[in-house]
Amino acid sequence: MTHITDHIAETVERVRKAQSDASQSAEIPVILAVSKRQPVAAIRSAFECGLRNFGENVVQEALPKIEALAALEICWHFIGRIQSNKTRDIAAHFDWVHTIDRFKIAQRLNDQRPRYAPPLNVCIQVNQAGESQKGGIAESGLRELAAAVTGLPRLRFRGLMSLPPAAGDPENSAPYFARLRELKEELEAEGFAADTLSMGMSRDLDVAIREGSTIVRVGTAIFGPRPDL
Ligand SMILES: *Cc1c(COP(=O)(O)O)cnc(C)c1O
Repeated sequence: MTHITDHIAETVERVRKAQSDASQSAEIPVILAVSKRQPVAAIRSAFECGLRNFGENVVQEALPKIEALAALEICWHFIGRIQSNKTRDIAAHFDWVHTIDRFKIAQRLNDQRPRYAPPLNVCIQVNQAGESQKGGIAESGLRELAAAVTGLPRLRFRGLMSLPPAAGDPENSAPYFARLRELKEELEAEGFAADTLSMGMSRDLDVAIREGSTIVRVGTAIFGPRPDL
């Protein structure tokens, strides 16, 4: 697993460099290691290299991993599409959810968040290019959903997430990232406590950080290619 060590060192360096090139003097972004389809041993290696935030996108796959690694202080993020019948498990086992795109799901997560746990951190996913195969709410519905989510006491609204079209040059993502930042700033100006921009993946995290990302979601650049399950 030494390649994971090297990949993490390279990713940390990439994040540092992008951050120092960025005009805004924000904090260093969080590296969210996307461990979907990666085995428990790989997550353990990444943890030993100092990573603490891990992301999964399929509930059934994530639960046994979370259980196997329960002794480690890991912050678990859910980054996949959410079906109603999975909200109870997500509410019980995750610390963050990046992919809220409708009120019904937010309400279920709120109602099902265990009393012993702190409020669940949530981001609203924005579908910026109107891609029907992806989740996310259209910009036009964002404000209303943000207000409704903010009203749920067992959720803590943190900000916005996007997964722009991935084609060609990573620079193609720049306008989407810039727009997402603008939307977050608009929400802040209206009084919403939004401090998070979850944007950027292995291919375009440098561009995302330049545009103000606070959480980059990095899979293959850390773990290598995902095995087929
Ligand atoms: C898989 C995934 C990632 C990570 O993608 P890489 O290209 O492997 O870095 C990031 N975000 C979401 C929502 C994903 O599903």
